[in-house]
Amino acid sequence: MTIHTGYEPAAGCTGQSQQGAKALMAWYLGAYGAMGGKNLGIYNCRNIAGSQSLSLHSEGRACDLGVPVGQGWAKTLADALLAHSGELGIQLIIHDRKVWSARHPFDGWRDYSGSNPHRDHLHVELSWKAARELSAAAVQAELTLTGQGFPAWPGRHLRHTPGHLMRGDDVRTWQQRMAGLGRQIAVDGVYGPQSAGVARDFQQAKGLEVDGVVGPKTWAASWQA
Ligand SMILES: [Zn+2]
Repeated sequence: MTIHTGYEPAAGCTGQSQQGAKALMAWYLGAYGAMGGKNLGIYNCRNIAGSQSLSLHSEGRACDLGVPVGQGWAKTLADALLAHSGELGIQLIIHDRKVWSARHPFDGWRDYSGSNPHRDHLHVELSWKAARELSAAAVQAELTLTGQGFPAWPGRHLRHTPGHLMRGDDVRTWQQRMAGLGRQIAVDGVYGPQSAGVARDFQQAKGLEVDGVVGPKTWAASWQA
């Protein structure tokens, strides 16, 4: 976990997205696509909105990671990217009227005064080295190694309601984790009685409220186990 220092501004339009930026986007869609994460673009030869300066999108080194507005996981992801900016070669992040920049690396999140509030996406800029070399596997490895890269809670409570089975990639992700911890569970993306039973056992073991429902606390505890 290190902080990236030093900012490389955009010098001109390159005509294409860089490999590392495409890799970051591919990782993002794989990790957060099921939770509403979208690709809002990489290469775009233009100025920063409301400014005369060239945007990093002009060099294909900036990713706009689309996020559903009002869900906590976007901020969690932004914090994780900042904490690992050194390893990942991230030089600037903007989200929800806040900016972190490698021009002021140790000042944390500062107010962003640009005309676009960036509520519906994370604008993430890469250094030239990262833009050339970063791979999706490297992002996953970096965020997994430290325990901060666990998937964010999907924003809905996973629960078993007889007669109305909840299904989805979020259910599968959680089941996979439980199976990885050695629990007897079918990884089928359907939250049935077996999943609820595993959730209750897990909650009991962790000293959490035992209700068989996977909310934010149980979800997070699943990856801290
Ligand atoms: Zn952007």
